[in-house]
Amino acid sequence: MGAQQVADRFAELYGAGPEGVWAAPGRVNLIGEHTDYNDGFVMPFALPHQVVAAVSRRTDGVLRLHSADIGGDITELRPDDLAPGGDHDWTAYPAGVVWALREAGHEITGADVHLASTVPTGAGLSSSAALEVVIALALNDLYGLGLKGWRLARLCQRAENVYVGAPTGIMDQTASACCEAGHALFLDTRDLSQQQIPFDLAARGLRLLVVDTQVKHAHSGGEYGKRRAGCEKGAALLGVDALRDIPYDGLDAALARLGDEEEVVRLVRHVVTENERVERTVALLRSGDPRAIGPVLTEGHASLRDDFRISCPELDLVVDTALAGGALGARMTGGGFGGSAIVLAEAADVETLTKSVEEAFAAAGLTAPRVFEAVPSAGARRLV
Ligand code: ADP
Ligand code: MG
Repeated sequence: MGAQQVADRFAELYGAGPEGVWAAPGRVNLIGEHTDYNDGFVMPFALPHQVVAAVSRRTDGVLRLHSADIGGDITELRPDDLAPGGDHDWTAYPAGVVWALREAGHEITGADVHLASTVPTGAGLSSSAALEVVIALALNDLYGLGLKGWRLARLCQRAENVYVGAPTGIMDQTASACCEAGHALFLDTRDLSQQQIPFDLAARGLRLLVVDTQVKHAHSGGEYGKRRAGCEKGAALLGVDALRDIPYDGLDAALARLGDEEEVVRLVRHVVTENERVERTVALLRSGDPRAIGPVLTEGHASLRDDFRISCPELDLVVDTALAGGALGARMTGGGFGGSAIVLAEAADVETLTKSVEEAFAAAGLTAPRVFEAVPSAGARRLV
């Protein structure tokens, strides 16, 4: 999606060109799943797919929103009237950002927005965070708010949690705001400290495929809340603030203390081992051995499937088929019960692997998956 194209459409809609054009990417989480609400580690990287927004300030207390991907008329809102809750459409994401900024004491007197996106929606690739972050960054720059990095991400998370009403962690917004090209972002969700870890796969003859299964099982929303509550119960039973506080070498002792709480045992085991997998991945990438992370990704999938129990037949099919076809590693990514899986493979194997996954889906009578290569790309930025 070109900046010029979005700016031109903005001018058609609003009668004059925008003050600027910004972009914010979707993301894939390499490893560290369902750890972000346990104060743990995550490791996303930004996709080349992004939301591009053309934005101008207004001074009359009016917020006008338009998305090329939704079409229809311009939505006109008044920032003074914005309030969380209620039945929202897509405009809740940008409106929520304006609401969160104003709540935090920033004076936003209105804006005109037109945006267009290449981030697949509802595929676990965080189109929602990209949408929030692009708006927040544009308003930050235009209104000179001085917000950066995780501070900006926090406000976007608040927009999604409180205004939209979706209980998500801080990873997605931080990834969209802070990732750098050729790197994965090692993020400690407890103190929000971050490190850019070199992750230039192409230079090493590797590829990372994203396989969007195009399925989203209906119960996924409620299951997220249940897992989250189960993790909180585990932390309470173990007397810690968050499962992050259970060290990997203290896992067996912790599980023994949980006794016959079978479900909590499984959840705790996933979170504690997943944090260790993130640390192992960081160490392997730092030592210049990206191929060696393959088995770590696959272990992560087994843990999500067997302990956290959020995989589904379609995701398992991607992983099993890819591994059988010689992939270095594969796992589901995102919230689970559908969405996308990632596959780490030698560049030379990509074509055959893609074909075998497509054939496996066809043979199982499933909708064809969407397969694309994910090149670690830049985080949110101003384009024009
Ligand atoms: P994900 O973040 O995994 O893509 P979500 O359900 O969290 O899925 O967010 C998807 C929602 O974000 C869409 O239903 C829509 O409301 C909003 N959205 C995302 N991209 C756009 C866009 N380009 N234009 C308008 N709304 C969008
Ligand atoms: Mg989302």
